[in-house]
Amino acid sequence: MNSWESRADEYSFYGFTDLPSVAQRGAVVLTHGEGPYIFDTHGRQYLDGNSGLWNMVAGFDHPGLTEAAKAQYDRFPGYHAFFGRMSDQTVMLSEKLIEVSPFERGKVFYTNSGSEANDTLVKMLWFLAGSEGQPQRRKIITRWNSYHGVTAVSASMTGKPYNSVFGLPLPGFIQVGSPHYWRMGHEGESEEQFVQRLARELEATIIKEGPDTIAGFFAEPVIGAGGVIPAPKGYFQAVQAVLQRYGIPLVADEVITGFGRTGNLWGCQTYEFVPDAIISSKALTAGYFPMGAVILGPDLTDRLQAAAEAIEEFPHGFTASGHPVGCAIALKAIDLVVNEGLLENVRRLTPKFEAGLEYLSQNPNIGEWRGKGLMGALEAVQDKATKTPFPGNLSVSERIANTCTDHGLICRPLGQSIVLCPPFICTEAHLDEMFGKLEEALKKVFAEVA
Ligand SMILES: *Cc1c(COP(=O)(O)O)cnc(C)c1O
Repeated sequence: MNSWESRADEYSFYGFTDLPSVAQRGAVVLTHGEGPYIFDTHGRQYLDGNSGLWNMVAGFDHPGLTEAAKAQYDRFPGYHAFFGRMSDQTVMLSEKLIEVSPFERGKVFYTNSGSEANDTLVKMLWFLAGSEGQPQRRKIITRWNSYHGVTAVSASMTGKPYNSVFGLPLPGFIQVGSPHYWRMGHEGESEEQFVQRLARELEATIIKEGPDTIAGFFAEPVIGAGGVIPAPKGYFQAVQAVLQRYGIPLVADEVITGFGRTGNLWGCQTYEFVPDAIISSKALTAGYFPMGAVILGPDLTDRLQAAAEAIEEFPHGFTASGHPVGCAIALKAIDLVVNEGLLENVRRLTPKFEAGLEYLSQNPNIGEWRGKGLMGALEAVQDKATKTPFPGNLSVSERIANTCTDHGLICRPLGQSIVLCPPFICTEAHLDEMFGKLEEALKKVFAEVA
């Protein structure tokens, strides 16, 4: 009765949790971590193949990060960034973020999460529209099955059907097609034709809505929580050409792809485009502090600066925006990625990671593997030739993930796919362990349902 599991049930309201699963199995209550492993209250060890929620890229006990946090707590444990005051760590982090960004100059605004960073940039675009004499320019375009967060605005940007339970999206949030060629490509359509079709669809949507009513287009370089959907070749070039015709900013939501996940510091570098702004969070602090950032490129920086000066302030900010401890941790996390080998390790491990996904995709119940850098997914299908998914009531991906958990591997079911995004500190042996455990689970579950 007094187990950790029952105490979790009794007093904690679960979010994004399959309640029948947890009712049957109990919550996993965690005590600590070592490298890429986490440990529960029973002393059981799990390899976390999802880096927490994509964010714990340096593992769960990195001394450089915990020391940076402790030192900053001793020096100056908290301050805001209002009224022209901010900590020295905040100043240094903004400098660093612009230095490592794809922008030759720009400015940074801090939040506590990725959702708030998306909300903040939408408010910035609305503010700009009003200030520039175009108050009607308020609509935001995103893609179906994309993920941009859970606050009222960012949930409206998130292209997931579950948001209908909240009566969302809010008016003026529009979705265009997902760039998932394997699933959404038409019979006989080449990947290039698919990309051209999506670009035409985007343009038709802009024209139908009225080009001067669109405030911005937000996209993840690789769709993450939609099941790891890498952009097809030429996609961002085609989309950006359309947006530029109508003066619509392209925002890269790099909450997952920022800081090395795709094998470059930024996902937009992997896909060779320069956005107008970047949304960052998750790996920004390697998951050691809640923090998000809006990183503005030169054009938006100048226009927002002018708009703010016109009314003498930008009336927006969070109490903990630019928190000195978060900034000190982020400075260290960026250092680890850029200078202490984490980005290099992502690049080194990527061929092995892809080979593991490719190998498992030979299973007759895996329809395709997808991936970029150290983010990947395997899509379960009942029939490989027709790409027919398993009936939803079989909960195949949940069963695979639960079986993995039983075997000491954390991986995530997303729709009918299983998502893997291991920490950047992993070794080859960790990847072998991850794929070995997943292979066993796939065999076991497919034998039960096929
Ligand atoms: C996780 C995520 C967010 C939301 O970040 P939170 O910190 O959970 O609010 C936004 N965009 C993308 C692409 C994400 O993966």
